Amino acid sequence: MEQKKQDMTQIENGLSAEEIKNLINCAFSAREHAYCPYSGFAVGAALLAKNNVVYSGCNIESASYSPTNCAERTAFFKAVSEGVREFRAIAIVGGRKEKGKKEVEYCAPCGVCRQVMQEFCQKEFLIILAKDEEKYEIHTLGELLPCGFGGTNLLL
Ligand SMILES: [Zn+2]
Repeated sequence: MEQKKQDMTQIENGLSAEEIKNLINCAFSAREHAYCPYSGFAVGAALLAKNNVVYSGCNIESASYSPTNCAERTAFFKAVSEGVREFRAIAIVGGRKEKGKKEVEYCAPCGVCRQVMQEFCQKEFLIILAKDEEKYEIHTLGELLPCGFGGTNLLL
Protein backbone atom coordinates (compact mmCIF):
# COMPACT_ATOMS: atom_id res chain seq x y z
CA MET A 1 0.00 0.00 0.00
CA GLU A 2 1.17 3.47 -0.79
CA GLN A 3 1.69 5.72 2.23
CA LYS A 4 0.51 9.22 1.48
CA LYS A 5 -0.39 10.51 4.92
CA GLN A 6 3.00 10.98 6.49
CA ASP A 7 1.67 11.54 9.99
CA MET A 8 0.11 8.08 9.79
CA THR A 9 3.44 6.69 8.65
CA GLN A 10 5.11 8.14 11.70
CA ILE A 11 2.64 6.51 14.04
CA GLU A 12 2.55 3.16 12.28
CA ASN A 13 6.18 2.61 11.52
CA GLY A 14 8.26 4.51 14.04
CA LEU A 15 9.99 6.57 11.37
CA SER A 16 9.40 10.29 11.11
CA ALA A 17 8.33 11.82 7.82
CA GLU A 18 11.68 13.64 7.79
CA GLU A 19 13.61 10.37 8.21
CA ILE A 20 11.71 8.74 5.35
CA LYS A 21 12.28 11.73 3.07
CA ASN A 22 15.98 11.83 3.97
CA LEU A 23 16.44 8.11 3.31
CA ILE A 24 14.74 8.36 -0.07
CA ASN A 25 16.93 11.32 -1.05
CA CYS A 26 20.07 9.49 0.10
CA ALA A 27 19.05 6.46 -1.97
CA PHE A 28 18.62 8.66 -5.06
CA SER A 29 22.06 10.22 -4.46
CA ALA A 30 23.63 6.77 -4.12
CA ARG A 31 21.92 5.68 -7.34
CA GLU A 32 23.96 8.32 -9.18
CA HIS A 33 27.05 6.20 -8.48
CA ALA A 34 25.55 2.94 -9.75
CA TYR A 35 27.99 1.04 -11.95
CA CYS A 36 25.70 -0.82 -14.32
CA PRO A 37 27.14 -0.75 -17.84
CA TYR A 38 25.67 -4.17 -18.72
CA SER A 39 22.12 -4.05 -17.43
CA GLY A 40 21.56 -0.30 -17.44
CA PHE A 41 19.50 -0.90 -14.29
CA ALA A 42 20.65 1.58 -11.64
CA VAL A 43 19.78 1.06 -7.99
CA GLY A 44 20.47 3.14 -4.91
CA ALA A 45 19.91 2.22 -1.27
CA ALA A 46 20.12 4.09 2.02
CA LEU A 47 20.31 2.06 5.20
CA LEU A 48 19.40 3.69 8.52
CA ALA A 49 21.25 2.17 11.46
CA LYS A 50 20.01 2.28 15.04
CA ASN A 51 22.83 4.75 15.77
CA ASN A 52 21.03 7.01 13.25
CA VAL A 53 23.90 6.93 10.75
CA VAL A 54 22.83 6.37 7.14
CA TYR A 55 24.91 3.99 5.01
CA SER A 56 24.32 4.33 1.28
CA GLY A 57 25.03 1.89 -1.50
CA CYS A 58 24.67 1.39 -5.24
CA ASN A 59 24.75 -1.66 -7.46
CA ILE A 60 28.16 -2.58 -8.85
CA GLU A 61 28.27 -4.87 -11.87
CA SER A 62 31.09 -7.01 -13.21
CA ALA A 63 31.84 -8.23 -16.72
CA SER A 64 32.00 -11.76 -15.33
CA TYR A 65 28.57 -11.25 -13.75
CA SER A 66 28.75 -13.29 -10.54
CA PRO A 67 30.82 -10.73 -8.58
CA THR A 68 28.02 -8.21 -9.16
CA ASN A 69 26.76 -6.68 -5.92
CA CYS A 70 23.36 -5.13 -5.27
CA ALA A 71 22.88 -1.65 -3.80
CA GLU A 72 21.26 -3.05 -0.65
CA ARG A 73 24.15 -5.40 0.11
CA THR A 74 26.67 -2.65 -0.63
CA ALA A 75 24.98 -0.53 2.06
CA PHE A 76 24.81 -3.43 4.55
CA PHE A 77 28.41 -4.46 4.00
CA LYS A 78 29.65 -0.89 4.41
CA ALA A 79 27.85 -0.65 7.76
CA VAL A 80 28.86 -4.10 9.05
CA SER A 81 32.47 -3.54 7.99
CA GLU A 82 32.44 -0.48 10.25
CA GLY A 83 31.15 -2.46 13.22
CA VAL A 84 27.47 -1.53 12.88
CA ARG A 85 24.98 -4.41 13.04
CA GLU A 86 21.68 -2.94 14.16
CA PHE A 87 19.32 -1.34 11.70
CA ARG A 88 15.95 0.37 11.53
CA ALA A 89 15.11 0.77 7.84
CA ILE A 90 16.36 0.83 4.27
CA ALA A 91 15.12 2.89 1.32
CA ILE A 92 15.57 1.48 -2.18
CA VAL A 93 15.17 3.24 -5.54
CA GLY A 94 15.85 1.60 -8.86
CA GLY A 95 15.07 1.46 -12.53
CA ARG A 96 16.57 1.56 -15.97
CA LYS A 97 18.87 4.48 -16.49
CA GLU A 98 17.64 6.34 -19.51
CA LYS A 99 18.90 9.71 -20.56
CA GLY A 100 16.70 12.53 -19.36
CA LYS A 101 14.42 10.18 -17.44
CA LYS A 102 14.57 10.44 -13.68
CA GLU A 103 11.53 8.37 -12.86
CA VAL A 104 11.97 4.94 -11.33
CA GLU A 105 9.57 2.11 -10.61
CA TYR A 106 9.19 0.37 -7.29
CA CYS A 107 12.23 -1.87 -6.96
CA ALA A 108 11.98 -4.64 -4.38
CA PRO A 109 15.15 -6.27 -3.02
CA CYS A 110 16.25 -9.55 -4.62
CA GLY A 111 16.20 -12.79 -2.65
CA VAL A 112 19.90 -12.66 -1.86
CA CYS A 113 19.58 -9.19 -0.32
CA ARG A 114 16.53 -10.27 1.68
CA GLN A 115 18.65 -13.08 3.11
CA VAL A 116 21.38 -10.61 4.12
CA MET A 117 18.73 -8.46 5.79
CA GLN A 118 17.53 -11.55 7.66
CA GLU A 119 21.05 -12.01 9.01
CA PHE A 120 21.11 -8.65 10.75
CA CYS A 121 17.50 -7.52 11.14
CA GLN A 122 14.30 -8.44 12.91
CA LYS A 123 11.03 -9.15 11.13
CA GLU A 124 9.97 -5.56 11.92
CA PHE A 125 12.82 -4.05 9.89
CA LEU A 126 11.32 -1.51 7.45
CA ILE A 127 11.91 -1.63 3.70
CA ILE A 128 10.89 1.53 1.86
CA LEU A 129 10.40 1.18 -1.89
CA ALA A 130 10.23 4.62 -3.43
CA LYS A 131 9.48 6.29 -6.74
CA ASP A 132 10.10 9.74 -5.28
CA GLU A 133 9.79 11.57 -1.97
CA GLU A 134 6.02 11.47 -2.10
CA LYS A 135 5.38 8.05 -3.62
CA TYR A 136 6.61 5.13 -1.61
CA GLU A 137 5.55 1.84 -0.05
CA ILE A 138 6.72 0.55 3.30
CA HIS A 139 7.04 -3.18 3.91
CA THR A 140 8.53 -5.17 6.75
CA LEU A 141 11.19 -7.82 6.28
CA GLY A 142 8.69 -10.32 7.69
CA GLU A 143 6.35 -9.54 4.80
CA LEU A 144 9.03 -9.80 2.12
CA LEU A 145 10.79 -12.87 3.54
CA PRO A 146 8.25 -14.99 5.41
CA CYS A 147 9.55 -18.14 7.07
CA GLY A 148 13.11 -17.02 6.38
CA PHE A 149 16.04 -19.22 7.31
CA GLY A 150 18.33 -17.50 9.78
CA GLY A 151 20.97 -17.84 12.43
CA THR A 152 18.51 -19.14 15.02
CA ASN A 153 17.98 -22.22 12.85
CA LEU A 154 21.62 -23.13 13.23
CA LEU A 155 22.06 -22.15 16.87
CA LEU A 156 19.11 -24.10 18.29
ZN1 LIG B 1 19.94 -7.88 -4.24
